[in-house]
Amino acid sequence: MFENLSDRLEKSFKLLKGQGTITEINVAETLKDIRRALLDADVNFKIAKKFTDDVKVKALGQDVLTAVKPGQMMVKIVKDELAQLMGGTFTDIELQGKPAVILMSGLQGSGKTTFSGKLANMLKSKKGRHPLLVAGDVYRPAAIDQLKVLGEQINVPVYTEEGNMDPVKIAKAAIKHAKANGNDVVIVDTAGRLAIDEQMMNEISAVKKAIDPDEILFVVDAMTGQDAVNTAKEFNERLDFDGVVLTKLDGDTRGGAALSIRAVVEKPIKFVGTGEKVDALDVFHPDRMAERILG
Ligand code: GDP
Repeated sequence: MFENLSDRLEKSFKLLKGQGTITEINVAETLKDIRRALLDADVNFKIAKKFTDDVKVKALGQDVLTAVKPGQMMVKIVKDELAQLMGGTFTDIELQGKPAVILMSGLQGSGKTTFSGKLANMLKSKKGRHPLLVAGDVYRPAAIDQLKVLGEQINVPVYTEEGNMDPVKIAKAAIKHAKANGNDVVIVDTAGRLAIDEQMMNEISAVKKAIDPDEILFVVDAMTGQDAVNTAKEFNERLDFDGVVLTKLDGDTRGGAALSIRAVVEKPIKFVGTGEKVDALDVFHPDRMAERILG
């Protein structure tokens, strides 16, 4: 997904790589190219500007002008800044509670239900946990069925209360059920709407208040670019979530959401979805992603 950005950044370093001695003008031109590449990857203007300003300060501070290999030095500085922009290092989810409770949030179609299944599968197979999936999308019977199918596929129980339209009651009852049945992680899927509305926000806030989750994850479709960043901002203001899940990174996203979300909401990206299958999930390492972008 970052192929285009990778290519563009690679090209912006050409000028510096070919030169023995470089001038401040060469650096300025390179930075301009980098900024354009970020903007074309759908990074917000302010973030792209701050990024190149920070790189400039570092480059001049580290005497890039007199360096033996200025090109390589710049690549390293940009790589470190990219990792920093995306959050520095990996941040894991909080699973202390007994049971640990994870609440999903996000718009309809963002990939919440799919991710709930993927996360349950990962926690079960890689961490030896015993998850319980909870169908809290009370408005769409199809979402309940989807979760049931996922649960069967990965052999994880799914708690449902068909006909009950109160997600707070369902979530509370599910936690009780988990305690009684030895489930040490409860993953609560919730209803999403096509756009943010007051009722949805009130409802999920009520669920949050009632079950006091260890971890609130905000799931967002990376393909929606700057919209993803704006939606994240609104959800964070209402929910104060703990981490972001970027889905559909296997699509032809330009990467803007991955690069900007952390800087805007100051919450880490914790997972990325890379396909429709239940094992298409990666934990997010900003440093490794920066390495991938700049090779
Ligand atoms: P929800 O409404 O937020 O629960 O969204 P769903 O989990 O139903 O996902 C919406 C659509 O996106 C489904 O067709 C999923 O198969 C698809 N989807 C979810 N995550 C990914 C992903 O990481 N990559 C791709 N390509 N598709 C995904």
